[in-house]
Amino acid sequence: MTELSGLQIFKYLPAAKKAEHTNCKECGCPTCMAFALKLAKHNIDIEKCKYITDDLKEIYEQNSKEPQKTVDINGIKIGGENILYRHEKTFVNRTAIGIIIDLNKPGWKEKFEQVKNFEITRVNEHLKIDLIITKNGTLPECITYEDYKKLPIKEIVDENFSKTADELIETRKKAVLEKDENYSSPVCVYFKHTEDLNLLCARASYYICKYANMLVFEDFNPYLVTSLMTLRQNIFTDPQKPLQVESKIYEFNNPDKNSLIFMTTNFALTFFAVANELESLPVPSYLIVTPAEGMSVLTAWSAEKFTAQMVAKTLKKFDLANKVKNRKIIIPGLLAHMKDELQEEIKDFEIVVGTVEAFAIGDFVKNMAKK
Ligand code: SF4
Repeated sequence: MTELSGLQIFKYLPAAKKAEHTNCKECGCPTCMAFALKLAKHNIDIEKCKYITDDLKEIYEQNSKEPQKTVDINGIKIGGENILYRHEKTFVNRTAIGIIIDLNKPGWKEKFEQVKNFEITRVNEHLKIDLIITKNGTLPECITYEDYKKLPIKEIVDENFSKTADELIETRKKAVLEKDENYSSPVCVYFKHTEDLNLLCARASYYICKYANMLVFEDFNPYLVTSLMTLRQNIFTDPQKPLQVESKIYEFNNPDKNSLIFMTTNFALTFFAVANELESLPVPSYLIVTPAEGMSVLTAWSAEKFTAQMVAKTLKKFDLANKVKNRKIIIPGLLAHMKDELQEEIKDFEIVVGTVEAFAIGDFVKNMAKK
């Protein structure tokens, strides 16, 4: 069962049936259609309309049920998913990764330290193991295997790839499309010890794509987990929210008051492209990153998230004029058309138009030095 649309709801309302009370406004909406559209987005209580039929109530109630329950394990949320494909809306909670530590096995202390201290940084995010599960004892900030077994989740022990994959797909489909309560628990795939890392990586990757809410491994391999976390970050990025970095002044190669000053927006991909180039320059520099809701420079400009006034405000907030002696700011070449506008607003600095592509920054800086 898919989400009810406004039009589907409207069919049950007095206006569609040309019945008494059509567009009576008693619900606070100007028309029955307006009420239907609000109800479809769950922005109004169904009880606001006293003329709703019982059949609509029943369909709406059934439709409003959460397809999959959310389970909180020591602050890590899993489940709560309500779609099959990310482009439909967004996935909600990332596939959690858990590692088993068996306190009866030799070398558990080393393994525990390795798992506890494992961390990778990717697109400004610090990623760690979500859950450590102990067997035959307890350790701080971990859950015991007994408590893990009591979680309201469905566990699939991975023994046969196609069987696990089919079960994961069936469970998600039943939950999302049919809202079948028998399939509403988040699903965890449990991997027993395995020597074949390639196979393990392939299977676990598939299960992240479709549709494991948690993966638990008896073994810990940092290369495997790094690959899985990288994949997971991509799969679970909200397509409606571009990846963004913090708006601030970034420093490269220990800049001083005379160092070069570049500017861009806080769209993560643009930032990292520019930052990589600035890091590899033989000269130090600053990079001013303006707040633009994670939009790239041209998109930000067209959405009025990169205006001369906003840039001036950002520079003031960072107190740039008092921090540096250099009086030139290099803006992205794509914003060349804004040069005069920016210059008018920003009196303390000369606006210099930089390169369209980040890879050309090195040559641009060399040419600047020759002038
Ligand atoms: Fe239509 Fe019901 Fe609202 Fe009246 S109260 S306008 S009948 S939705």
